[in-house]
Amino acid sequence: MKAAEVIDDLKRRFPNEPEYIQAVDEVLTTIEDVYNDNPEFERYNLIERLCIPDRIFSFRVSWVDDKGKVHNNMGYRVQHNNAIGPYKGGIRFHSSVNLSILKFLAFEQTFKNSLTTLAMGGAKGGSDFSPRGKSDMEVMRFCQAFISELWRQIGPDTDVPAGDIGVGGREVGYMFGQYKKMAREFTGTFTGKGLEFGGSKIRPEATGYGNVYFLLEMLKTRGIDIKDKKVAISGSGNVATYTAEKLLALGAKVVSMSDSDGTVHIPGGLTREQLDYIFKLKNIYRGRIREFAEEYDGVEYYEGERPWHRVKCDIAMPSATQNEIDGDDARALIAGGCMAVSEGANMPSTPEAIREFQKARLLYAPGKAANAGGVSVSGLEMAQNSQKLSWTEEEVDAKLKQIMSDIHTQCVKYGTEEDGYINYVKGANVAGFMKVARAMMAQGIL
Ligand code: NDP
Repeated sequence: MKAAEVIDDLKRRFPNEPEYIQAVDEVLTTIEDVYNDNPEFERYNLIERLCIPDRIFSFRVSWVDDKGKVHNNMGYRVQHNNAIGPYKGGIRFHSSVNLSILKFLAFEQTFKNSLTTLAMGGAKGGSDFSPRGKSDMEVMRFCQAFISELWRQIGPDTDVPAGDIGVGGREVGYMFGQYKKMAREFTGTFTGKGLEFGGSKIRPEATGYGNVYFLLEMLKTRGIDIKDKKVAISGSGNVATYTAEKLLALGAKVVSMSDSDGTVHIPGGLTREQLDYIFKLKNIYRGRIREFAEEYDGVEYYEGERPWHRVKCDIAMPSATQNEIDGDDARALIAGGCMAVSEGANMPSTPEAIREFQKARLLYAPGKAANAGGVSVSGLEMAQNSQKLSWTEEEVDAKLKQIMSDIHTQCVKYGTEEDGYINYVKGANVAGFMKVARAMMAQGIL
């Protein structure tokens, strides 16, 4: 297999899908050698079967707003690969959603889920509907319309969706409710559910906490203590806020948060009381991060900017969206003394940014390793639902820590280079790939 030829062919076949091509390119260039060490893979044209999703559903979602106006959005579910377990991956509601973005996310999810050591395949879904500025009733009607169309394609042993950008506990609750009504069954078909109806303790916290656990493992390899380190976070949603919560508990200083309108810089470090304000602002009042700067003295707000140029930090934890750190941002971070980047978001760094981080020998963890805590606890939620049991917070947190540590070990095993530098991108890709590849080989050409 020549990675460049496969990429060229995919570009020709899917010319309008740059994010999908970017994600595939990043994986293929790092697994090329191990793939070619196993000639049977090429005989079965494994690579093409792994890159192209098993199937894609796309549909119209019609719903009525509070004023009686009818809207039509697009809905999608990309079932990428189920070689090692049922399809599993979040649902994203954001105006930018299109097939390229969902195909990249589903592709990434397949490797991430493999890394978790749990039995989950890869999928992703969503809509170009944005919950921003919509009433609760509008969001509910949209979720119901979305699931009325999708419910036949999902199920506890078929495909188990969860949250992502624009889909939190509220949206999962409405979608689960509609699924239950259509399917006439109460099963663990969604994860990220409320605690009263099958949700797992620590699921909302899992991606952020897991990212910090992964960061601690990386810092340990260089004997660095997290205490008093300045951490720049982007985003102010689920992943960003729980990342901040765990960092504060460990004595680190959170110096930025952001949303799609701008960035807040907190030079003295975010306090627990301020974080509680952000939780309420985002989850209850559905407000903007600008309002946080208006509420507190000593907090600066930069309209239309991301944190990376503005905020000097020791550690960066991008937790908003894809391609939010470009080459210039990466160079600014390095020049400012940043020593580690651990990705809460999926593919937040462009290929050029990744090259800069690796060239400067930063500790750099790609999302598919560092943010795998979310889907890991989703896997634990599925296990609890199957057993009709719920585990304690301590049990789930201990399992999450162990999984993040195991993912780190796999990255070190497959990613350590001759000079001792740990290439976490290569480590995560090779480890994730080998398990899926072996399972696909054993199951024949499907
Ligand atoms: P949320 O919707 O809870 O929060 C997203 C945050 O990112 C918001 O602050 C949002 O700002 C900001 N954001 C979204 N799009 C953009 C954009 N185009 N430019 C700038 N800022 C943006 O989502 P999550 O926290 O769940 O997800 C964040 C990232 O983490 C995503 O990449 C997701 O795929 C990834 N992830 C999430 C997991 C989970 O368990 N939730 C698991 C693994 C990865 P605004 O409010 O203005 O839109």
